[in-house]
Amino acid sequence: MTDVVIIGGGIAGIAACAQIAPHLKVTLLEAEPELCYHSSGRSAATFIEDYGNRVTKELNKESLTFLKSESQGFLKKRGLLLIGKYGEEKEFQTDAGDLGLAHISFDEAFQLLPSLKQEGITRQAYRPDVYDIDTNKLFEYYRKIALENGAQIRKKTKLIGAYLQNNKWKIKSSNGDLSASIMINAAGAWADQVAEFCGISKLNIIPYKRSIARMQAPKGVDVQNWPMLDGVGETWYAKPDAGNLIISPADKQMVSAHDAWADDATLAAGIQSFQGVVNFPINRMLSNWAGLRSFAPDENLVIGPDKNNSSFFWFAGQGGYGFQTAAAASQLLSDLLLEKNVSVDSEILEALLPGRF
Ligand SMILES: Cc1cc2nc3c(=O)[nH]c(=O)nc-3n(C[C@H](O)[C@H](O)[C@H](O)COP(=O)(O)OP(=O)(O)OC[C@H]3O[C@@H](n4cnc5c(N)ncnc54)[C@H](O)[C@@H]3O)c2cc1C
Repeated sequence: MTDVVIIGGGIAGIAACAQIAPHLKVTLLEAEPELCYHSSGRSAATFIEDYGNRVTKELNKESLTFLKSESQGFLKKRGLLLIGKYGEEKEFQTDAGDLGLAHISFDEAFQLLPSLKQEGITRQAYRPDVYDIDTNKLFEYYRKIALENGAQIRKKTKLIGAYLQNNKWKIKSSNGDLSASIMINAAGAWADQVAEFCGISKLNIIPYKRSIARMQAPKGVDVQNWPMLDGVGETWYAKPDAGNLIISPADKQMVSAHDAWADDATLAAGIQSFQGVVNFPINRMLSNWAGLRSFAPDENLVIGPDKNNSSFFWFAGQGGYGFQTAAAASQLLSDLLLEKNVSVDSEILEALLPGRF
């Protein structure tokens, strides 16, 4: 018997587990043999405070203090350079405004990225306070707290059905039955499926595939301290990764929940865009992958009790922001579940609660 069952062992599930385990008996179920196997193992590990819609930006901001705090040190300064080409001037302006970037000259951009091609580039904008997130460290930080507080983590354990009996969830899993008073749905791309397994109406949380190629940096080009590069209209991005480069075509293909993989044509589009702004050829792919970014219809996260069943909590729709929002989002989930005061204002709370649908 446990108080709370969490479904999903990605960053959402493990952060929720760490927040709640000091207060209640928690068991986390993960279908895969390893934690962090799906989206959480496939991200670009970046923190951009002004990435996402208005509601997401509030969660980013709230998370930043925690991520920056000296004893944790989960962030490393990277910077973000937006590059505009002929014909993209209007969209460039919008992106620079949304992401909080300041216009800089070509020479200033060249200082940041000495391989920048001048030809075809008409605009540059930059902000220094964009960070790499040490996602492994963050995940392990939460896992350690969860375990130290007695949480049970069961891998290779897929929830396959659940029903309420006398105010207790009777849960059927691929690895035996259990029961709990509260269920938390942190199943990422499978959030709607998990809800339906529990007899709860789905919220139309849709997964979109996004791909990344890891490319070898050419000999003699030190990319280590480059900023992250962003194409206008979120059409591609690239950033250094352990001496090499990761390049994403920033694809947004609507799919059903599955173990995602990248296809060559999609990756090639991103590599070509990147190739258009640097003055060296890039051709050796070291590896590639794809993952699912899952969004609710309004693209806000979904945090809190289901509107028809207060013992079923949603912690879903993390989209492309699951790591950068994890601290604030899991705190909010835990405060709601433990019936404590929440730190976000009421308008933001309303925009996150499942009852908005
Ligand atoms: C290419 C890419 C780049 C990204 N870049 C960034 C970035 O730079 N910064 C950022 O903050 N975010 C980024 N993201 C988004 C981030 O990775 C996600 O928002 C986050 O990982 C979602 O975490 P999650 O725990 O909700 O989902 P997941 O990590 O997918 O975890 C859900 C888990 O639930 C399990 N599960 C599902 N059904 C069941 C069941 N029935 N029983 C038991 N377990 C079940 C699954 O096996 C899975 O492990 C990126 C995503 C992608 C794909």
